[in-house]
Parts: sequence; C-alpha cells; structure tokens
Amino acid sequence: MRLSQMLFVTLREDPTEAEIPSHKLLLRAGYIRRIGSGVYAYLPLMWRVLQKVSQIVREEMNATGAQECLLPQVQPSELWKESGRWDTYTKAEGIMFSLKDRRDRSLALGPTHEEVITAVARDMIRSYQQLPLHLYQIQTKFRDEIRPRFGLMRGREFIMKDGYSFHTSEDSLKQTYQDMDRAYRNILRRCGLDFCAVEADSGAIGGSGSQEFMVLADAGEDEVLYTPDGKYAANVEKAVSLPPDAVASGFTTYQKLETPNTPTIATLCEFLKCSPTQVVKNVLYQAVYDNGITVLVLVSIRGDQDVNEVKLHNQLTNAASRYGGKALLSLTVPDPETQAKWASKPLPLGYIAPSLEDDYIISDNKQIAPKFLRLVDHTAVELQNLVTGSNQSGYHVVGANWGQEFKLPDLVADLRKAKKGDRSIHDPSQTLESARGIEIGHIFQLGTKYSQAMGATYTSETGEDLPLVMGCYGVGVSRLAQAAVEQSYDKDGIIWPVAIAPYHVIITVPNVSDNQQMAIAQQLYSQLNQAGVETLLDDRNERAGVKFKDADLVGIPYRIVTGRAIKSGKVELVQRADHESSEVPIEQVVSLLQQKISQSL
Ligand code: ATP
Ligand code: MG
Repeated sequence: MRLSQMLFVTLREDPTEAEIPSHKLLLRAGYIRRIGSGVYAYLPLMWRVLQKVSQIVREEMNATGAQECLLPQVQPSELWKESGRWDTYTKAEGIMFSLKDRRDRSLALGPTHEEVITAVARDMIRSYQQLPLHLYQIQTKFRDEIRPRFGLMRGREFIMKDGYSFHTSEDSLKQTYQDMDRAYRNILRRCGLDFCAVEADSGAIGGSGSQEFMVLADAGEDEVLYTPDGKYAANVEKAVSLPPDAVASGFTTYQKLETPNTPTIATLCEFLKCSPTQVVKNVLYQAVYDNGITVLVLVSIRGDQDVNEVKLHNQLTNAASRYGGKALLSLTVPDPETQAKWASKPLPLGYIAPSLEDDYIISDNKQIAPKFLRLVDHTAVELQNLVTGSNQSGYHVVGANWGQEFKLPDLVADLRKAKKGDRSIHDPSQTLESARGIEIGHIFQLGTKYSQAMGATYTSETGEDLPLVMGCYGVGVSRLAQAAVEQSYDKDGIIWPVAIAPYHVIITVPNVSDNQQMAIAQQLYSQLNQAGVETLLDDRNERAGVKFKDADLVGIPYRIVTGRAIKSGKVELVQRADHESSEVPIEQVVSLLQQKISQSL
C-alpha cells in the first residue's frame, strides 16, 4: 500500500480523551477513531491488526478440532428468559442492550452467546455419538458497560472469539478445557504478549474451575496475586491465602465496656490497647434478589481483614432459593437513605454485634426478609475471648466467645479478601505479591447450568436422557490488540510484535522528487510484496523528518530508507524496536527481511 493513497492521518498531540499510552497511541497513529462512548471505528491499519489476531486465534482453535461458525447478534428475549438471565442482564447488571421490534417483541444485542448456542445444541445434538463438539465464532459483541474506557480495552462494541463445547462427562469437558488452556497460551505467545494464567472466579455457577489469561500492565483493571515461586496466581476476586496469625486476647473474662467514640477498628484498638486481630467486626450489606426481596446481611470477620464482595456475592447467590429467588440483583452497603427504608429504629453503627436483633428490621413489608442473614468468615470463627460490638452505641464487649455469648451463624465461609503480603496456602514461606493485569481471555467449565435450564439433553449410551455438559472459552480480540500496544511502545510510538503488525516493512523515500530514490523504493516495494513481505511505501510529498516520525509512531517493525546510501548500492535498514540501523546491499534486502520476519513469527 502506498501511503499517498491511504487514509493516513496522524496527530502530533495526545488526544485529551485518552488516558493510557496504548489508547493515545492508537488514536494518534490513526488506527482508531471514537464514534461514541465505547464505540470505535477500526481504520484500515487497525483492521489489518485485528485480522491478524483473528487468524492466529482461528488457527489455534482449528488445531484443537473446534469448528468455526457465526451466530446471530440479534437474540430473542425468550432464550434469555429460559436460562433465567434476562432480568440480571437487562436490569441488575444492565449490561445487555435490549430493544423492541415492530411487533413489540423484546430482543437483545448479544453480549455473549451461551443461550443461542444451547438452543442450537438442544435442536441438533441427539446422541452421545455426536459428542464432544466444540463450536466457536469471532464476532462483534455488545455490552452496555458502566464505564467504557481506555479505547478498545473496555468498549461497548468489541470483537470477541467465543467458543462453546459440549460433552457427555466432566472428564471429557476437562480434556477440552486443557486443550483450550494450551491453545490460549499459544495464541498469546504467538501474538508476542507476556502473560500469566490465573485462577479466576467462576461466579456462583461453581463448576470445577475457570482460568483467566492476564497481560500484566499498570493500566490493567484487574489485580493479580501471585507467589514468586510461580506456583500460585489468582485474580484477587478469587484468591485465597493465610491471614496473619491473631494475637492471643488478654481479655479472659466477658465484660461490656464503655468505649466512647470508637466506631472504627482503629479507634477501638487504640482505646482498648488491643490488636485488630482480636476484634470481630460486623459489616452490614443489603442484597436484592430477582424476585424483589431485600435481605439484610450481616458479615462477621476479623477486624484486620476485609470482605471480598465477589466471594460474598457467590454465597448470597447460593442462598437465593431460601428467599424464593434465583439470582442476586444487587449487593450494596446500605447508606442512611436506604437504611431508613428497612430499619425500624436507629442502628448502633460502629458498635454492631454478631447478635444484632432481627427487630431492627421493619416487620410490615413483605418485600423485606424479616431476619438478618448472618455469615461469618473463618478468621472470625477461630477467635477466642474476642472483642466486638455490644449493639449499644459507645460500648463494646470483650472476652466473648462463640457458643457462649454469641451463637455462631449457620453460614461459615471464606469471605475474606486475600492481599499482598499474606502467606500462601501452598507454601507459607511464600508471600503473595500483587500486579495489575488486563484480562485477555477466560476459559470456563460451565457444567450443566444452561443445558439444564434450557432442556438441552442427549441420549446416552444406555439410552438415558442427560443434560449436556458444557464449557465456554472467550478471548477479547480487540482488547488483545490494544494490550499488545500497552506492553510494547516507547516515547516515539508503537512497537508492534511482528506477528500482528499491520505491515512488516515501511519504505521511506526521503525525497520523492529524487528519481533514483523513488525508482529503488518502487522496485523494493514490488519485490518485497511479491515475496510475501507486507510492505508500505511512504511516497508522500512530505519532509523526511515527518516521515520518520510517522513511521516510528505507527510502529512498523522494519523501515527501509532509500537515502544517501543508494549511491553505494545500499539502503538503510532500521529496526523499530531498538532503532538499530545498518546499511544493506539492495539485492540482499528481500532475502534478509524474509529471514528476519520468518524468525519472529
Ligand atoms: P471484564 O471482567 O473485563 O468485564 P468479562 O469477564 O466480562 O470481562 P468475558 O465475558 O469473560 O469478559 O469475555 C471474554 C473476553 O472478552 C474477556 O476476557 C475480555 O478479553 C473481552 N472483553 C470483555 N468485555 C470487554 C469489553 N467491554 N471490551 C473489550 N473486550 C472485552
Ligand atoms: Mg471474564
């Protein structure tokens, strides 16, 4: 492609709309243009990058035996009602764009395709003989994200590869899951990315696990906790660890003490001269289920620890059936305004005990569960002679014990947020470190959640009708492309990994009115393209300095300059990554570049 004929517009200044380097660079170098919030045009250079990423994804997927298809983006609401996700996706998370057609039927723009693929499987898979089966697609997804940002990193319209596999057994599912783990590692390695695979939250579906593939970068929206020995890495949402040991309590007799102005752990510990590890704090949450029922939740946890709200969310989803619900719509810390809607009297905030009486909840509203749902984290269960609230403002109790002064709640669970510096469970001599990560892919053992809800069954070898066992696997194609930039740039611009660069080579003609410079450039341009080296020709009538700046900004791996050296039958070859430059005899250029490029693919 000749730059003089291309839609090629670069910006000297950083666009104000962009916050992180990769977003700025893709805008400045003319790869993308913002059309609306979270909605971007992929311009010709970007489209080439995206097609290269897609092709690598496709090759690695096909190599596992998965088959490509294309599913509809417009999805009938009925399917989402069958799976039970219509309300969560349109109301609770509100992440799904929904619309009405001219006949007043509800539709949605696909944020993901479990429902559609399960409907296909229900119609077409009859027998165990058709299994296992794995279908995937590469397609635009729509999600009405709360905070679209960072360009392609979190768009409202983006490209994803999503695949869904069907099996007769968990073992068969695990096999495909392993194949996908390998395929995803190959994809990221071939795209030139540094990444790590981490244990991920599987939501309340349970299943036997899920794994995310993270590109480590400061701009990442996820936190990863890992050990230096490389044996443990997990998303903080899912991470587990050993809490610091609790200091033994000196309060050997049970007492209620006046503790004025001590509503926080810090003020209380200062006043009582005790360690936060001896305190049980009781945190209030408000949960709303999909049937409209509000449940007040009291979580007891050790004073020096924090609640992991993802873990809590999963526990509350598991408890949904107790309240006649299926899904949790929201989980919040009640503010004074919402408290006023359910509290029958002022709460002893900052002084709450695990035994906070249920009569704090108004009794005449059918939409509000009349009792607190009480949960306790393991860290709090283990404490003896503990310090906690007394349900009276300005007073705490000390020397209390579960089973004596306080009844241990029925729900004992891991609700604690693991953090940097904690000891690891697999080897307590290892301490957790923290890094930011960009989630590029997620592989997931779904089990029978969707097949059961939607009646997708097959006939087994023994003639039984059984629900299909499913897995799902997603890669953010457009996010991956931008993450590659976030990992590889310098002060001059983008440094594309060769495998996904829009072009391999750019030929810069310093002076287009010099016939000899142009002739050699034209000759190399056609020879390189013929040899399969994807080459751009900068034949614009611009100053050499402008062209060099643009070439660096756009990030093409190799630049050829038909400048002074042509007098001695050579051209200058500059490597974008390190600006290393050498003079190469013209007749050797094609073979040398072919060799360099094939080495880095
Ligand atoms: P996130 O936690 O970042 O919102 P997710 O867990 O909702 O992502 P999945 O449903 O697992 O994402 O989708 C698979 C992949 O699609 C993700 O790993 C990510 O790479 C990509 N992806 C998800 N949401 C977006 C988005 N809004 N913009 C660009 N890519 C996205
Ligand atoms: Mg995910």
